[in-house]
Amino acid sequence: MPDDCLFCKIIAGTIPSETVYEDGVLVAFKDVHPIAPVHVLIVPREHVESVNGINESNQNLMGDLFAAAARLARELGVADDGYRCVINTNREAGQVVFHLHLHLIGGRPLHGLG
Ligand code: 5GP
Ligand code: ZN
Repeated sequence: MPDDCLFCKIIAGTIPSETVYEDGVLVAFKDVHPIAPVHVLIVPREHVESVNGINESNQNLMGDLFAAAARLARELGVADDGYRCVINTNREAGQVVFHLHLHLIGGRPLHGLG
């Protein structure tokens, strides 16, 4: 794990977060600056920088991320009304934490992609 990775530190428990789910593969916690009533980050325990780091050896992580998103969306009450799964990759997409994470965002109408 890189010493300077914020999400590795959250996963290790050295930086606090509001955990909503964890298992052997993933941790999910509330975004510290939520943009909607539901805004959870779903993060693999393994340090992968972004979708650019996904390959044949770790591609199961993507299925795990989306299965957790579907389950958490139901548990958090947004599955029927709707929600977004967002994964930003590199700077022009707005990635600021370079440890792969899926944003689960819902609880209000969301318009456009900007
Ligand atoms: P990105 O822009 O890299 O896709 O998303 C990073 C997200 O991490 C942002 O939505 C930001 O609010 C969130 N974030 C940054 N620092 C912290 C932190 O210390 N704790 C938590 N829970 N979320 C954070
Ligand atoms: Zn990391």
